[in-house]
Amino acid sequence: MKYVEFFEELNKDDVAIAGGKGANLGELTQAGIKVPPGFVITSQTYNQFINETEIFDEIMDILNVIDVNNNQELQQAARKIKNIIIETEVPNEIKTIIIEAYNALCRRIGKENAFVAIRSSATAEDLPEASFAGQQDTYLNVKGEEELIKYVRKCWASLFEARAIFYREENNFDHSTVYIAVVVQEMVNAEKAGVMFTAHPSTGDEKILIEAAWGLGEAVVSGTVTPDTIWVDKENEEILDYQISEKNIMYRKNPNTGKTEKITVPDDMKKKQVLNNDEIAGLTKLGKTIQDHYDFPQDTEWAIEEGQIFMLQSRPITTLTKKAEAIEAEVERTIIAKGLGASPGMASGKVKIIRDTDELDKILVGDILVTVMTMPDMVPAMKRANGIITDEGGVTCHAAIVSRELGIPCVVGTGDATKVLKENSVVTLDGNKGLVYEGKIVESTQKEEEVEKTTVVQQSILTVTEVKVNVSMPEAAKKAAMTGADGVGLLRTEHMMLATGVHPKKFISEGREDELVKVLVENVFKVADAFYTKTVWYRTLDAPTDEFKSLKGGEDDPYEHNPMLGWRGIRRELDEPEILKAEFKAIKKLHEQGYTNIGIMIPLVQHPDELKQAKKIAREVGLKPQKNIEFGIMVETPAAALIIEDFIAEGLDFVSFGTNDLTQYTLAIDRNNENVADLFTEQHPAILKLLERVIKECNKAGVKTSICGQAGSIPSVVEKLVELGITSVSANTDAVALVREVVARVEKKLILRAARKIIQD
Ligand code: PEP
Ligand code: MG
Repeated sequence: MKYVEFFEELNKDDVAIAGGKGANLGELTQAGIKVPPGFVITSQTYNQFINETEIFDEIMDILNVIDVNNNQELQQAARKIKNIIIETEVPNEIKTIIIEAYNALCRRIGKENAFVAIRSSATAEDLPEASFAGQQDTYLNVKGEEELIKYVRKCWASLFEARAIFYREENNFDHSTVYIAVVVQEMVNAEKAGVMFTAHPSTGDEKILIEAAWGLGEAVVSGTVTPDTIWVDKENEEILDYQISEKNIMYRKNPNTGKTEKITVPDDMKKKQVLNNDEIAGLTKLGKTIQDHYDFPQDTEWAIEEGQIFMLQSRPITTLTKKAEAIEAEVERTIIAKGLGASPGMASGKVKIIRDTDELDKILVGDILVTVMTMPDMVPAMKRANGIITDEGGVTCHAAIVSRELGIPCVVGTGDATKVLKENSVVTLDGNKGLVYEGKIVESTQKEEEVEKTTVVQQSILTVTEVKVNVSMPEAAKKAAMTGADGVGLLRTEHMMLATGVHPKKFISEGREDELVKVLVENVFKVADAFYTKTVWYRTLDAPTDEFKSLKGGEDDPYEHNPMLGWRGIRRELDEPEILKAEFKAIKKLHEQGYTNIGIMIPLVQHPDELKQAKKIAREVGLKPQKNIEFGIMVETPAAALIIEDFIAEGLDFVSFGTNDLTQYTLAIDRNNENVADLFTEQHPAILKLLERVIKECNKAGVKTSICGQAGSIPSVVEKLVELGITSVSANTDAVALVREVVARVEKKLILRAARKIIQD
C-alpha cells in the first residue's frame, strides 16, 4: 500500500487512489507540461487513518441515531464528525510518511518549510460525484509540518460535510466505501491566473477562450471577479478579441503573515489588460499541446509567476460530451402531458409520483419528481431529481423558482401529470416548451450546458444598464456569481428560514433570537461574499401563511382563503417586528464585518407609512437607512406604483418591480392558479403603464429603478424597460446572458437613434 505518490508516478487512470484532481496533475506532469511539483496523499491513507484510530465506529454511532431529514440534527452531526477527524492524532507511521514527502518536496524546490497548496481530491470514479458533495476544499499558503497535517485532516473531514452525509444516507451508500485523496503541491505565488478552454465551451468551435485576472486563480474560479476575456483562433493563433473588464478583487499572499488575503485591486490595475501578447501566445501553445495529449478539448486552470506559465488543472469540457450524447439519444417523440415551461433544459428519468412528503425517500438521483405542487420541505428531494413536473402552478410558483435556481428542468401546471404519468415509467420533459414526452430522449439533463454558456457569453459584453441576478438559495450563489452579473437584485429570505425547519416566530417566542440572527448571517454571508463588492439587495421576509404553516411552530398560523392577498410581506413583519429586527441585526453584523455591499428591500408595501415604520425599526438596531445602507422597496402593488411620489417623499434609494405580484394584483389573476395562467402576462398595457410612470417619477427624483420579477428575464419586457430608462434588470441565473445581450442591443439602438437625430438636425 502506498501512503503517498509523487505526481511523476501517477496518470489519469489513477482516480481511485489519487482522486480526479491528483490523477490529472500526474498525467500532465508525465506529459512534460509545467505543473508545480507535488504529491498525493492517497485515498488508502485516509482509509488507514480512520481504521487504525478506530474513529469510524464513533462516526457511525453518531450517524446511526440521526434523522438526516432534520436539518438541525444533520448539521450538528456533521460538525461533530468533522471535529472528531480534525482532532484525532494521525498515527505516527502515517504522519512520518506524509512529513517525509513534504520535506522531499521542500528539498526539491530548494526551500525550507516551503509554502504549499492543499486540496481535497474526490475519488468519484464509480460513485456519483454528489456523494462527495461540498468537497472542494482548498487551503492555500500552508507552511510547515504542523500546518500540513492540520489541513490534511481538514480535507479528510470534508468527506462528512452535511450535504455529503445526506446524499449517502438517502441513497444507501455505505459511508465506509467512500474515500478521499489529498493533493499537496508547491504554491505558485501567481501574479496573474485564470482558466482556459481549448475549444469554444458551448459550440466546440476551434477557438481558445482565456479568462484572466490579477493574483491567485481562486478569484476567477469562484467567480468573485469578472476577468478579462480573450478569444484566440486555434489554427493561426491570432488574437480575435480581448475584452478588458474592471477587476476589483484579487487574492494574494500577504508578504508579512504569509497567509492568503483578499484585497482590492490597486486603482491603476483595475482596468489594465492582464495578459500581454507573449503570454497569450504561450497559453495558446500550451492549450493546444494539452488538447493533443488528451485528444479532447480541455477546461484548464493556469497561473503565471515571474513570467513562467504553470498548469494547475485539466479536465474534459463536459458540455461538449453531453451534447454528443444528447444527439445520439434522439428518438421519435410522443407527447403525454403539456404544461408551462418553467425552468429550461431537457431531462429524462423515471417518474416518481409524490403525494405526501413521507414519500420523498422514493426520489433517487436522476428521477423525475412528479407532484401536485412542490412544497419547501421537498427541496432536498428536488435537488436529487433530474427534472420536476407539477399539476398546478404558473411560472412564478415555488417549483418554478427553486428549479430555475437549482438548474433543474421543470414543467408546471400540467393539470393532471400525477394522474396520467405512470410510476416508474421513463419520460423526458422539455422545460422550454412545457412538454412531457414518453421514453428517454436525452442522456440525463442538458441544463448544465446552458449554465456554462451563460458564463462565457456574459463575460464578453459590457452594458451601462446593470444586469443583476436573483438568488433564493444561498448555496446557489456561487453559480449565480459565475454569470458575471452586476450584483443580486433580489435575495429572497424565505428559503433560508425554511431550511431551518422552524418558523422564525418560534425562535423569537423561545428567546432564541440569537440563533435566528446566526442562521441569517451565515446564509446572507454566502451571497454577499460570492458577489463582493457588487451590491446584494436583501429582501426582508415575505412569507405567505400557506408556505410556512408546515414548519415547526407554524401550526397555529391562520388558515387563509387567499394567502396571496393575506398576511405576508411587510404588513406581517410590522405586526411581528421582532422577526424584522432579527433580520436587520443580521445585516448590521455583516456590515460590521465589511459586507457593506448589502442593501435592504421591503416587499409588498402599499402605503408610505409601511416604509417609514420599517426604516424606524432599522434605526432601532443601529442601521442608518439611506446613509450607511441602501434602503428601497419592491413595487408590487398597483397602490405603490400609483403613489410612488409619496414613497419618494418618504425617502428611499431604489425601487424594484416585483412583477409577479404586480401582475396578479393588477389583473386579478392568482399567480399560482393554473386555470388562469394563460391570462397571466406582464405585457398587459395596464402593467406597462404602471412601470412607465414609476420609472419616470424615479428618474426625476434620482431614485434607482430595477426589476426582479420574472418579467426581468423576458427579452421583450427588458427591451421596453431599457428604453424607458431603468437603472438595472435582475434576471434568473439561466437568463442573465440572454438579458445582457438584449440590454446591449437596446443600448446600441438608443445610441444609434440619438446619433442619427444629431446628424439629421
Ligand atoms: C415578485 O413578486 O415579482 C417577486 C420578485 O417576489 P416573489 O416572487 O418572491 O413574490
Ligand atoms: Mg413578490
